[in-house]
Amino acid sequence: MERTVYVNGNYVPESEARISVFDRGFLFADGVYEVTSVLNGKLVDFAGHLRRLHRSLGELKMAMPCSDDELLKIHRALVEKNAVSEGLVYLQITRGAADRDFLFPAQATPTLMLFTQARSVIDSPLAKRGARVITVEDLRWGRRDIKTVQLLYPSMAKMIAHERGVDDAWLVKDGAVTEGTSNNAYIVTQDGTIVTRDLSSDILAGITRAAVLKCARELQMKVEERPFTVEEALRAREAFSSSATGFVCPVVEIDGTAVGDGQPGPVAMRLRQAYIEESLKAAI
Ligand code: PLP
Repeated sequence: MERTVYVNGNYVPESEARISVFDRGFLFADGVYEVTSVLNGKLVDFAGHLRRLHRSLGELKMAMPCSDDELLKIHRALVEKNAVSEGLVYLQITRGAADRDFLFPAQATPTLMLFTQARSVIDSPLAKRGARVITVEDLRWGRRDIKTVQLLYPSMAKMIAHERGVDDAWLVKDGAVTEGTSNNAYIVTQDGTIVTRDLSSDILAGITRAAVLKCARELQMKVEERPFTVEEALRAREAFSSSATGFVCPVVEIDGTAVGDGQPGPVAMRLRQAYIEESLKAAI
């Protein structure tokens, strides 16, 4: 069954979708993206993803190709056309096609492309058993706060993790964890405090991160936004990650050492449940 995808104003079967070989997304990774999860055919945290999209575009001096209303309509149309009950909508905007030049083109029409992926997100075997991670040096560029499509290093780091038989890599800069390859990273200290790195250009400001921290504070959990080292993580009671498609996912092992008792922890599981409940209510 072919999916219907959206490219520059048209809904087309995926095999008929076309983008220029001169597209700067292809030649320079000159583009940004967002991933919005879908629950019961509805969009989770759409407003947050839209806000971050505007920010990413602004940081790269790239134009928004359509109105916010139009973008919402496209998301909804794709969910409907592809009958997605659970899964995600991927959106990508690039600076568009121009003859290859390091200078941004004076005039280029942005490329807007979206597709869906149907998959089960609530019922996750990984969340049930907990993820095993290794730590690797964070060799990404210094503007990780912009959600660009240049994902080669995170992809390499995830491959290294895969080759070592684990699920993901946590990236480490100057001894402290920045984030996972495609998620934000947290620990729960022995006194029950949730610690996650503070926002800066070192990490992506996860939309799920914001929602999860809000849930945690509403549940009277103590939260500290600050860097934590790998050693502190190894001494933690629990660890977990968050992302739009992973929600909250327990982390049970770091570099071959069990975190806590090596089982998904109660704080992570409580937050996962609270976030899913909130998302089911608030999705649009
Ligand atoms: N950090 C990185 C590097 C990511 O790639 C992602 C998601 O793709 C996140 C964090 C989590 O962000 P969000 O919760 O908005 O999905």
